Amino acid sequence: MSNASRLIWNRGRIVPAESAMVNVLSPTSQFGLNVFEGIRCYWSEAAKELFVFRLGDHLTRLYQSAKLLGLEIPATPVQLLSAIREVVVANGYREDTAVRLTAYVDGEGSWSATGPVEMFVAPIPKRRHDVNSPPCLAACVSTWERISDRCLPPRVKAGANYINGRYGHLEARRNGYDVPIFIGHDGKVAEGAGACLLIVRKGELLSPPTTCSALESITRDTLVTLAADKGIPFRERVIDRSELYLADEIFFVGSAAEVTPITSVDRLVVADGKAGRIATLLLREYLAICSGEAGGRHRDWLTPIYSGE
Ligand code: PMP
Repeated sequence: MSNASRLIWNRGRIVPAESAMVNVLSPTSQFGLNVFEGIRCYWSEAAKELFVFRLGDHLTRLYQSAKLLGLEIPATPVQLLSAIREVVVANGYREDTAVRLTAYVDGEGSWSATGPVEMFVAPIPKRRHDVNSPPCLAACVSTWERISDRCLPPRVKAGANYINGRYGHLEARRNGYDVPIFIGHDGKVAEGAGACLLIVRKGELLSPPTTCSALESITRDTLVTLAADKGIPFRERVIDRSELYLADEIFFVGSAAEVTPITSVDRLVVADGKAGRIATLLLREYLAICSGEAGGRHRDWLTPIYSGE
């Protein structure tokens, strides 16, 4: 489907994406003053149903981001679920989809404006990774420092935060890499530009704490739970840069990234340079859970679109 025919939900109405309006003088346009969530929906062929993954947790994070930026989300969680249902149904999507749900400061105001806050909900078809051949990335350690809680809290999902990611991404691409890995102000591994990072060392799955300049990732939380289900030892601890070069596995995790193996860092190959055993196992488990094909396990993470419970 082309962009031209995509329908989105904007200010309570279903409109063609290109007809949604934002004031060019608005704080969202000028300063990236918005908070948003990227929420995945997975199609189950068996159930003939599209499941929204961990909607409640995404909405909780949205309200928290808004609180820190002094904004009021002009809709309740129930209204936002209705908006998602309405716009997915309007587009007739029966396939894996990523939903962008954004609250932005519109109107002619400065960066200190607190309103008017408007919203859009935009579902965009996006396929899940192929478990048997997920994309594998060549990463570099960015020379740009990750934003920190001392300046732009990384646990807030605000548009402007992503400019930090952009600097890292541009540098990585300029130097022939796919993606950057950021070090935080404390000199320790933080996260990627749009995903958190997990590593495997000495048989343990390790994650930097979320106080190490990382978003409080819902996917990370999911994978830690699934690792526990599978008996994979997990520990949250500070990770040094040099451990990236010695790790047995490294992968990005996120709603968009799902589980994406990193097979080299600064041209040093991670283990045998292929997607690792634990990454592959977790990706398989994750997609089974997300698409409701895991025999009812963690069913409370799924909200059906079409049967509208
Ligand atoms: N860090 C950043 C900067 C992100 O943009 C994302 C994607 N939302 C993540 C981590 C992963 O978070 P989640 O698993 O909640 O999608």
